[in-house]
Amino acid sequence: MRQAATALGQAHDAGQGLVMLYESGFTETLRLELSLEGRLQQALDSGGLRLVHQPQVDRHGQLIGNAALARWRDGERGEVSPAAFIPLAERTGLIQSLGRWVLEQACAQQRRWQLAGLQPPPVAVNVSPRQLLAAVTPMSTLVAAALERHGLAPDLLELEITESGILPITGVSGEIERLAALGVTLAIDDFGTGYSSLESLHRLPINKLKIDQNFTANLTTSASARAIVRTALTMARELGMQTLVEGVETAEQAALLEGLGCDGYQGYHFSRPLEVEAFTALLVQRQQGSAG
Ligand code: C2E
Ligand code: MG
Repeated sequence: MRQAATALGQAHDAGQGLVMLYESGFTETLRLELSLEGRLQQALDSGGLRLVHQPQVDRHGQLIGNAALARWRDGERGEVSPAAFIPLAERTGLIQSLGRWVLEQACAQQRRWQLAGLQPPPVAVNVSPRQLLAAVTPMSTLVAAALERHGLAPDLLELEITESGILPITGVSGEIERLAALGVTLAIDDFGTGYSSLESLHRLPINKLKIDQNFTANLTTSASARAIVRTALTMARELGMQTLVEGVETAEQAALLEGLGCDGYQGYHFSRPLEVEAFTALLVQRQQGSAG
């Protein structure tokens, strides 16, 4: 019975309408996942998580944004990638408290920078689709409270929602409208990898498209990747949206994107994600540069 329940859990995780036969590896996976879940919860309670900040720049290389990315250093496993622990948090429901922590941290840090006399650019926080659904306290209420608590102007906060999460789901659009009404910027993350209809893109109050890094990676070698990026940029412009391209790793990619008229750039070519201290140094340097 236990093995059947394990297979059922795996089938649920893998998608809808699937049949799974039990395999001996499942129990091991489940055991690992349980121990990881416990440790993630503990990290959340005891300060084992932190945010790093990746600069976003305009075509002149000027800082225009800050992507806040969660990091977890686990005692046993070392740095665990968000690519591993975010899906885990989503499966287990921990994403609700993790998401609240990230929002709180990002807003608190904005305020700290302001109190230090610095002018931080907007901070972009990732929001999992799950955070828009079925939470005890709606996301829009949490965001309004966080802005209020830290005395932060709404245009200093951006929310990134993945394309696959936002658009096909009915019942999310009301929450998206309420978030937009607060005045925060709403961005679609990983654009091009989901299956959003153009109709919903146009209907929802989305301010920005972030084009997925897969397209960037293939930009110089694939004519179809170039065509997709060019088309997405044109569409965004005509719909009055800002654009940002992720995963820019080379000068060649940056030049190509500039030619296509992209507004914002994020990637290792400009900067890796930075620890708070390093991002602060960047803000100080930028302010001294503009003063002098
Ligand atoms: P994302 O929001 O698309 O963030 C960009 C990811 O690409 C980051 O990985 C960043 O380190 C990486 N990256 C930046 N520039 C380059 C580049 O030039 N080349 C390559 N190959 N990669 C680059 P990271 O930090 O591992 O995050 C992965 C994903 O995990 C994020 O993708 C986001 O979807 C999710 N994530 C991270 N933090 C959070 C969070 O606080 N909440 C939620 N819900 N998701 C998060
Ligand atoms: Mg993102």
